[in-house]
Amino acid sequence: MALYTLGNHTLDTQQPDRDILAALIGDETVDAELFHAANTLKIRQFGNKVFVRGIIEFSNYCRCTCAYCGINAQMTHTKRYRMMPDDLVNAAVCAAKVYRTVILQSGEDLFYTAKTLADIVRRIKEKANCAVTLSIGERTLEEYRLMREAGADRFLLKHETANAVLYESLHGAALETRLGAQRRIKALGFELGGGFMVGLPGQTDEILAEDLLTLVRERVEMAGIGPFIAHPDTDLGNALDGDPHKTLKVLALARLLLPGCHLPSTTALNVKGGMKNALLCGADVIMQKATPFEYRQLYDIYPGRDAQEVPLEEQYETLKKRLAELGLSAE
Ligand code: SF4
Repeated sequence: MALYTLGNHTLDTQQPDRDILAALIGDETVDAELFHAANTLKIRQFGNKVFVRGIIEFSNYCRCTCAYCGINAQMTHTKRYRMMPDDLVNAAVCAAKVYRTVILQSGEDLFYTAKTLADIVRRIKEKANCAVTLSIGERTLEEYRLMREAGADRFLLKHETANAVLYESLHGAALETRLGAQRRIKALGFELGGGFMVGLPGQTDEILAEDLLTLVRERVEMAGIGPFIAHPDTDLGNALDGDPHKTLKVLALARLLLPGCHLPSTTALNVKGGMKNALLCGADVIMQKATPFEYRQLYDIYPGRDAQEVPLEEQYETLKKRLAELGLSAE
């Protein structure tokens, strides 16, 4: 049992209480203690290691209409692209020369059947010594099974918000459908990556507390927690961006609740200049772009994402130097 006394609050991480989590999120006087506790626990779990993953965004077609997303199906002006399977396998094999884990991410694009995706995963695993993570959205149990049997190791599917009403207003679909997909993924033996956004319009600290409890309940092994960033072309274009500092607090609480969970400094948080701080508040993972240069600008889910044309090895060396300045080492 781990009990943390933070200011006037006592957090029991075996039986976390929603009201206490919400109070901690809202109480600025606990920040320094909270960040220190999260960093101490992260170091106890992982030492000074930072796990670096290469991410390939292989298609920006998407059947979904998530209200915050710059490549949702209603964005008729978006220039769409798809990488063909041979090109994707080649890009993944190249990325695996630099990174131990390659993440294949796309919109929910049914052009890629489960069999096609399984073939891609199988070919990558035959040619490269790397873990393969998929981030391709909701599919059936049988579809996920094909991908798992082909050798995919991990699967990212965030719940985005644990409030059913807010979820439905943003996605036009039920939260339970998303949680059901997460449970299918987990049941097949994938390492499950969940996560959510901080600062969505209408979100409260109580909802954020419920988001944290959802990570615990669904037994995620990774969790991406990033600030909401308004994309100007979407229905939420005029909304305020999420607060990076609050995002760090929620990230730190996630570390206390899930000591062994992999927590990236999300790309959205990095856009807000938060990478260094996230790595000192509980995060242990960095994702780096391995998408071929010609597609980087087009994967425009929110503004400000890194679309620089820096070769992977150079990008990795630069990151290693930045990490070394923080006393951290890339894995
Ligand atoms: S957030 Fe993902 S699933 Fe939703 S519209 Fe964007 S790419 Fe599609």
